[in-house]
Amino acid sequence: MRQYARILTGRIEALRVDVVVNAANRALAPGSGVDGALRAAAGPELTRLTDTMAPIAEGEAVMTPGFAAMARYIVHTAAPIWPAPGDRAHKIAALERCYANAIRLADTHDAATIAFPCIGTGVYGWPKELACDTALAACAEASAQTRALREIVFCCFAEADAALYRARLERFLET
Ligand code: ADP
Repeated sequence: MRQYARILTGRIEALRVDVVVNAANRALAPGSGVDGALRAAAGPELTRLTDTMAPIAEGEAVMTPGFAAMARYIVHTAAPIWPAPGDRAHKIAALERCYANAIRLADTHDAATIAFPCIGTGVYGWPKELACDTALAACAEASAQTRALREIVFCCFAEADAALYRARLERFLET
């Protein structure tokens, strides 16, 4: 994972990577945060396409072209809503699947680089530490089985989030 991981602060729609991951909702309907930023970058063709697509399950990942966005592809995945009723372990497993399925899908499409936002930590209300630990664990496991993937970027909106990822990545590598 050390050779794979890069932690950045900034806006995900500005990254020139093969795949950006969208913190989408299950309906693939236009939203705020990452979803709004990626739709603005991709242009109206993205929403014209997602309007024709079936809803996804929590943890599922589906791919579209990036259209006018910097990235070649956008992978859309839906996290569970943290404060919604439901079992904590199930929610964590679903967030792990968001990351693992996105990595598998990207790798299948020969992507060398993939960028993730801090999925679930905006309007979906996840505690930042738990979301970060879940992201790092899932990516470490999934990246052990990739063929094309060379780099995973964790794109943090706030410097405080990037600091959390840096600290946790170090700790994660020591264990
Ligand atoms: P979710 O619905 O999964 O919580 P959000 O898009 O609301 O997704 O937020 C996820 C995380 O992405 C939050 O930490 C938020 O601050 C961050 N974020 C919001 N806009 C951007 C952006 N343009 N680029 C990268 N990260 C962003």
